[in-house]
Amino acid sequence: MSEITLKNVSKKYENGNFAVREFNLDIHDKEFIIFVGPSGCGKSTTLRMIAGLEDITDGELWIDGQLCNYIEPQQRGMSMVFQNYALYPNMTVYGNIAFALKIRKVPKAEIDRQVHEVAKILEIEHLLDRRPSALSGGQKQRVAIGSAIIRQPKAFLMDEPLSNLDAKLRTQMRVELAKLHKKLNTTIIYVTHDQTEAMTLASKIVVMKGGVVQQAAAPAAIYNHPANKFVAGFIGSPSMNFFEAKVSALGEKKNKAVLSFGENQEKMVIIDGPRGEVLARSRNGQHVIMGIRPEDITDYENAVKGGFERSSIGITERITAREMLGSEVFLYFDECDTNYSVRLKPNNTTQPNEKMTFYFNPNKVHIFDCNTEENLF
Ligand code: ATP
Repeated sequence: MSEITLKNVSKKYENGNFAVREFNLDIHDKEFIIFVGPSGCGKSTTLRMIAGLEDITDGELWIDGQLCNYIEPQQRGMSMVFQNYALYPNMTVYGNIAFALKIRKVPKAEIDRQVHEVAKILEIEHLLDRRPSALSGGQKQRVAIGSAIIRQPKAFLMDEPLSNLDAKLRTQMRVELAKLHKKLNTTIIYVTHDQTEAMTLASKIVVMKGGVVQQAAAPAAIYNHPANKFVAGFIGSPSMNFFEAKVSALGEKKNKAVLSFGENQEKMVIIDGPRGEVLARSRNGQHVIMGIRPEDITDYENAVKGGFERSSIGITERITAREMLGSEVFLYFDECDTNYSVRLKPNNTTQPNEKMTFYFNPNKVHIFDCNTEENLF
């Protein structure tokens, strides 16, 4: 059982820097929470405050109904897994995993049973006699996780545990971690700047910027309903495309809105439904930021299939680059000195310097306020 609550938690370092500001989050038992954000946004500091490795300047940390701001790290019931593995080089894998139980003076036979059980879960039984220097990166990481599991913590705290692994191993370990979470049925709080890890592993993603939480929600909610332009641009690869657009009310009833953009505002997308009505009535003549993901821009054929070929005037662009990834192709174009990307099926053969006409799916257009950058819907 673990219920962890952070209430208005802030961290100010001695040099006056606020690394984390007014952080609020309820972490429920068995959740897989992932903190993401650019370098220096306060992810590790938040994790270290939960672990007790960093003092909390302001606010409250509650673990299972107990105020823990001043509780020693060992008493918090957390196990930390670091990116550099933190193994004892002079001990074997067995010794490393058994260490926490030896300190607790658990009987030898019981230690032996538990070490083998953990080694079996992690599929490292054949490595128990080796020293860390004779292990690969992925194997070291498993041992580090094994040392954490054997303590049977209320929660695992993991700081970029896969960042020292090569791309292939990283993908493999990511899948292993997802399985492990299911098997162990324990809370995991995990720090990464890798959005694929965040999207695939998390039950809840916490996106941070400048020490402030921007949005905390399930991966699909973060992707489909980003709270602001920062979250929209940070999650998704290639990033969401942004255009400055002018809103004009359409028709007598003003129940649709036209978003015009481009150098001379000659390009248009028509937004209808409740969003179109709100925009037409409240933002007529004003500017907004229009966002669209690369996969929501398409060709005529798919626009017809999607039924939006008429609400998006065909936008013809000269292609500046093409990337063929096998299962998909990315095309890039420039507009007002900004680079934009489009994700298409691999049968599209448009080459750099050729022109292509694109259609924007108006239902997938995100609209942000120009000043606050908040998502308007
Ligand atoms: P990264 O992805 O690069 O590891 P992060 O999001 O984990 O970054 P933190 O390590 O939590 O970021 O750091 C948050 C901010 O606090 C940064 O601006 C960092 O420079 C600052 N900071 C971290 N440790 C200290 C310290 N001991 N003294 C002063 N400032 C610090």
